[in-house]
Amino acid sequence: SIEQHSLHIFFFPFLAYGHIIPTVDMAKLFAEKGVKATIITTPGNAPFISKAIGKAKTENEIQIQTINFSSAEVGLPDGLEITDSITNPYLIESFFIATSLLQEPLEQLLHKQRPNCVVADMFFPWATDSAAKFGIPRLVFHGTSLFSLCATTCMQLIDPNNDVSSDSESLTIPNLPGEIKIARTSLGSYGMGDRTSMIKLLREANESELRSHGVVVNTFYALEKDYADLYSKVLGRKAWHIGPLSLCNRDVEEKAHRGKEASVHEYECLKWLDTKKPNSVVYVCFGSTTLLSDSRLREIAIGLEASGQPFIWVVRKSKEDEVEWLPDGFERRMEGKGIIIRGWAPQVLILEHKATGAFVTHCGWNSTLESVTAGVPMITWPIYADQFFNEKLVTEVLKIGVPVGAKKWNGLEGDSVSWDAVEKAVKSIMTGEAAIVMRNSAKNLSKQARLAMEEGGSSDSDLIALIEELSSMTF
Ligand code: UDP
Repeated sequence: SIEQHSLHIFFFPFLAYGHIIPTVDMAKLFAEKGVKATIITTPGNAPFISKAIGKAKTENEIQIQTINFSSAEVGLPDGLEITDSITNPYLIESFFIATSLLQEPLEQLLHKQRPNCVVADMFFPWATDSAAKFGIPRLVFHGTSLFSLCATTCMQLIDPNNDVSSDSESLTIPNLPGEIKIARTSLGSYGMGDRTSMIKLLREANESELRSHGVVVNTFYALEKDYADLYSKVLGRKAWHIGPLSLCNRDVEEKAHRGKEASVHEYECLKWLDTKKPNSVVYVCFGSTTLLSDSRLREIAIGLEASGQPFIWVVRKSKEDEVEWLPDGFERRMEGKGIIIRGWAPQVLILEHKATGAFVTHCGWNSTLESVTAGVPMITWPIYADQFFNEKLVTEVLKIGVPVGAKKWNGLEGDSVSWDAVEKAVKSIMTGEAAIVMRNSAKNLSKQARLAMEEGGSSDSDLIALIEELSSMTF
């Protein structure tokens, strides 16, 4: 059995919640199969990773190793170790590039510990060479959907010089099943933007992926069949689909503490949901990095109120912030009807509650997949990066969501969307014939997600196959 081997794997997530959270889950899954897992991160991120590992740490073998990262060395604010404290989009880009300072300390650790494999984030393209120096295979983790991986790879087939001159509003992504059309305004760095250092990093990521041992993806085969086949058979990538990774968390405690400490006690939140009708509550959250402006937040508030549905709305504001972003008397009027969580929510627990009926999401892949896993249809409001691709998967391929109409990649703030578009989207996902069809499809995918992770399911089998392959390379 595979348990007899003592494989040791390094997991090295990018310094952003959306990358760390699924990587910790992945380490837990490998550890459950008897693999020794070491998560590599910076000192500032170690405490919450330790909390997220929770009891898996004692039951299985998961360790944390820290390596130092001095952001001040490259002119970034001192002590900056994770993207969520960055408010300027240009700083984010510098931060991405600056993380190459982690290469040397990583190599020192590789030299000392000689793991059998390194699962490193796509944003560390240099990790392939680092691992190769010690004869260690490197696997890439992107943290996004296969759909988005295929879309970005297919986009590279477009000649940007010929393409910018065209004035039509959208383009059809070549060779991508589903005849997917995407608005040019939503392409940002993937398309014809001027953020050249980011484009360079993406190109390096692609090249290093081609030289790596393969790719692990947080998805399950049945969710993205056509794209899984395209990625491996046509684009020639070796990929293992081992998700939804969030399903490795089985009790309330584990589900509540995957990221930051929640700003609301999980039981308080769940008790409130208990008082609401099944599928009636709209959950609104834009992930860990977006920064919607006050005017966007106002439109959301007015739209939610107009929809008449109960809601839980997560805003990245602290209690000390002025409430100018809310219409007058909003919180008083909404008492009992809606909860505003300022800060961090226990998202998976909220999504899994039977009262939760829709998710207004920025389409970060973790959020999207957590919604699929919980069987909750989505109102899609992408802000930047792969989110616009994930929206297409949700609304046009899986047909378990409606777009709110955000089409422009506009920094961390998002496209402007008016309150009546919010109201309309909420109504269309909550009521009517089409809403029932979407909800049923979402529930069906939720069942398939769970099946994939069970013993003998597609994701479980892929994980075992990967461990066996790595073992055979080693022993
Ligand atoms: N998340 C959470 N509470 C919050 C906001 C986010 O638990 O208040 C978690 C969410 O469940 C998901 C991750 O943070 O696992 C966000 O990842 P995603 O890919 O959706 O978006 P990103 O933050 O990377 O933009």
